[in-house]
This record gives sequence, structure tokens and C-alpha cells, in this order.
Amino acid sequence: MDKDIRKDNEDLDMDHAVSEEVLEDIAFYRALLVNVCMIGKPNDTWVLIDTGVMRYTKRIIAAAEKRYGNKPPEAIILTHGHFDHVGSAKELAKYWDVPIYVHQNELGYVTGKEVYPPADPTVGGGMFSLLSPIFPQDPVNLKSLVKPLPENGELPFLKEWRYVYTPGHTPGHICLFRERDRTLISGDAFVTENPESTMAVFFPLQKVYGPPAYFTGDWDLAEESVKKLAALEPELVIPGHGLPMEGESLREQLNELANNFLELAIPKNKKH
Ligand SMILES: [Zn+2]
Ligand SMILES: [Zn+2]
Repeated sequence: MDKDIRKDNEDLDMDHAVSEEVLEDIAFYRALLVNVCMIGKPNDTWVLIDTGVMRYTKRIIAAAEKRYGNKPPEAIILTHGHFDHVGSAKELAKYWDVPIYVHQNELGYVTGKEVYPPADPTVGGGMFSLLSPIFPQDPVNLKSLVKPLPENGELPFLKEWRYVYTPGHTPGHICLFRERDRTLISGDAFVTENPESTMAVFFPLQKVYGPPAYFTGDWDLAEESVKKLAALEPELVIPGHGLPMEGESLREQLNELANNFLELAIPKNKKH
């Protein structure tokens, strides 16, 4: 393990790096504008989902240690490879000495072989303008740290969970779903804060929105994926951006998004 990361922890205020428990075995930590999820009961074995923006390594470690002590996760699983979800992946994987998993169709984008289309500033505002100062110069390359997920939908170390393949926002985007209590981790397939509103970032409401527009590559696939997720009738969602939502209001709003995707999710200049 790379002890140097721990050594200069002192210069950051780690007291505020605290995860919020949603269920007995799920907590999330908001790393700037994006959620990372921890699946596993406190002090039990656990898995980290997504890794936030870069320079959040120490804070994510601090939040994890408050919940799990010194026990590293079994693995890191990525919903997709956008920089706000993989920013601290390399440092965390090295520090904990654990593998990173991503969908096969996303692998090229996190190993420097393929590059996402450039962010579309014409749909602008909100998260885009807040994140733009920290856009990385180079595409992320996790090299040999990252492996493809099994093709059959199984998730390593998470027996109760399966992944749902939800391309559109990116080619290899996945969500994580647990049938037993219909808990969904949705990444950016849909979110619960308006990604195009700066106000929403600071005053989050619980409302279902489509995927962040400036990074979404294929709107037809994104629509199909939202329909797939609505059909799962989730009871609880923890999205990549925004607060968790649950129950009937979640299902109603998700259905509304699925049935009116063109109107609700697709930016005006992308409609055809
Ligand atoms: Zn994204
Ligand atoms: Zn995102």
C-alpha cells in the first residue's frame, strides 16, 4: 500500500469526509459533485462504486475508514469512465491494492485506447460549468489495474447484485441492481438533480432527470436504457449526481421520464 497518501492527510480537513448511510449496507459520499457508493455493512467486507473527481482520494479513504476501519474494499466497480467517476480510481486502487472493474464496452475509454466525444458546451450551464475548470488534460488510463466485468451480468464480490447494461450516456455504462429490495445505483443513466442548473447543484431537490446532456453520446440508446430501468420498478435509487430517492415518487417520475424522454431529457438542439 502507498503509505505516502496517508502521511499528508493531516493538511486536509478529513472530519468532513463522512459517508451517509442509506440502507444498513449502503452508504454514499458526495465527492464534490458526484456520489461514490459503498456497498457493505460497517466493518464488514465491502465494494466501492465509482471514485469521484480527481484529488478526492484522501477524502474517499477517510470516509471509507470511518465506516470500515482499515479494511480495504474487495474491488472498485465503475458505472462508466467519465472523469467525474474515475478521477480518483487509479490512486485508490493502488492504495488499497484492489482491482477495478468496468463493462467490456467501456474498457477502451479507461485504458487510453478510445476517447469520448468532446463535452457539448452548447447544452451548457450547471454541472458543466462547475466541473470545467477540473476537466483533465488527458484521457484516463487505468492500464492493468482495470478488468472487464463478466458478460453474464454478475458482479464480483456482490452476490445479491447484478449489473444492468445501460448504454447511451456512454457506450459501456452500467447500473447496479439488487432484486431483493429493488435498490438501484444508476450512475449517470438518470440522475436526481438537474445537471443543467447551477442552482440545483447547491440546492438539490429530489427529482428525476435524464443523463447529463453535455456528456451523453447516444440519445436513442440513453432512452432505451431509461425504459429498461423504469421497467425494474426500483424502490430506491442512489444516482451518480443528486440525492437518493425512493418509493412511488421515484417510480412515477422515472416512468414519466421514460415515456417522455424526447421532451424531458434531450436538449433542444439534439432533437431530431
Ligand atoms: Zn457521465
Ligand atoms: Zn457524472
